[in-house]
Amino acid sequence: MDEGYGIETKAVRAGQTRPLLEGAVVAPVFQSATYESGDETSYHGIRYLRLNNSPNHLALAGKLAALENAESAVVAASGMAAIATALFTVLGSGGHVLAHRTLYGGTHDLLTKEFASHGLSFDLMDADDPGSWSAKLRPTTRAAYVETITNPLLEVCDLEAVVRFARENELVAMVDNTFASPVNFRPAEHGFDLSLHSGTKYLNGHSDIVAGAVIGRADLVEQVTHRLNHLGGTLDPHACFLLDRGLKTLVLRVRQHNASALALARFLEAHPAVALVHYPGLTGHPQHTRATRLLAGFGGMLSFELHGGLASARQFLQSVELAIVAPSLGSVETLVTRPAATAHLGLSRSQRAASGVTDGLVRVSVGIEALDDLLDDFGQALDRVS
Ligand SMILES: *Cc1c(COP(=O)(O)O)cnc(C)c1O
Repeated sequence: MDEGYGIETKAVRAGQTRPLLEGAVVAPVFQSATYESGDETSYHGIRYLRLNNSPNHLALAGKLAALENAESAVVAASGMAAIATALFTVLGSGGHVLAHRTLYGGTHDLLTKEFASHGLSFDLMDADDPGSWSAKLRPTTRAAYVETITNPLLEVCDLEAVVRFARENELVAMVDNTFASPVNFRPAEHGFDLSLHSGTKYLNGHSDIVAGAVIGRADLVEQVTHRLNHLGGTLDPHACFLLDRGLKTLVLRVRQHNASALALARFLEAHPAVALVHYPGLTGHPQHTRATRLLAGFGGMLSFELHGGLASARQFLQSVELAIVAPSLGSVETLVTRPAATAHLGLSRSQRAASGVTDGLVRVSVGIEALDDLLDDFGQALDRVS
């Protein structure tokens, strides 16, 4: 597809094969586990569903690469399948990764609970403090790993310095771009080698599938695909179809998430019951200037603390009516959660404290409902907080 097309056009059309199959405007689900043999020269070229090469997989990979202006992409059975496979591939045997100290809970668990038994190691770093990184380098360090916007405190770390540091030290620069989505940040344009996604979130956007993606340098994506073929974490073709359908409205959805989250963040900031709001679009956010420079929008995620701490947070969650109290994020409906009780439950209280996740912190995934309805709902719930 023409690289000059706008991102809105790519979201709708990239990856589509021409001529259209039987003239169908929407490609069908290829519900076939295996395909007629041709003249395959390698194992990975055999057309078999686990090998991630069905027409649904290839269309989706083409669209994802186009959306991030990257060379290549592969989809996986979940975000964690994508992240784990990418890390295992890049780190090889005995590798070490330098990762930001606040990570998505599942990624943190992967490093702390799985790595050692596979002979892999990690160090946590402050991705906002470049001066502290070289002391943590080891001869086996192979990658630097960060998240575009961190969970749940919405930090925007020094991503440009991370890329420079990776170049200087021959590391693979990896970023979990789930929170930003390709609409707000395209890692390849900033020099990242690999971008990871939970497709469960904004990419699909409808809370009805679990999926993942690895997007970036073609040589690395090929290695990741081969590893994924061996490990077996392929995405079902019907889930591929749903993810492709969700992607068609990605740009429209994310623009609405950006606008509503900014308005809700400002509303919360001005409310007397609220002690602190974390949102990179607020001028008081510690990395607001950088976020403005790097991101096309500040995203749909925010978190806040109430003056009344944990008791008030519980009261707030019991009082919302439109917003749904549920983990996960990035979908059309507004979800609220207490990270200490969900995503960060795997961490000890001291680990949570170190990453700033207080027991009373409330995280919001702002959906695309009418903004006035959301403000009314948050307003009435805050009024009931003591
Ligand atoms: C949800 C999430 C993941 C994991 O994705 P799954 O699809 O649940 O496996 C990874 N990173 C971030 C930032 C996430 O929000």
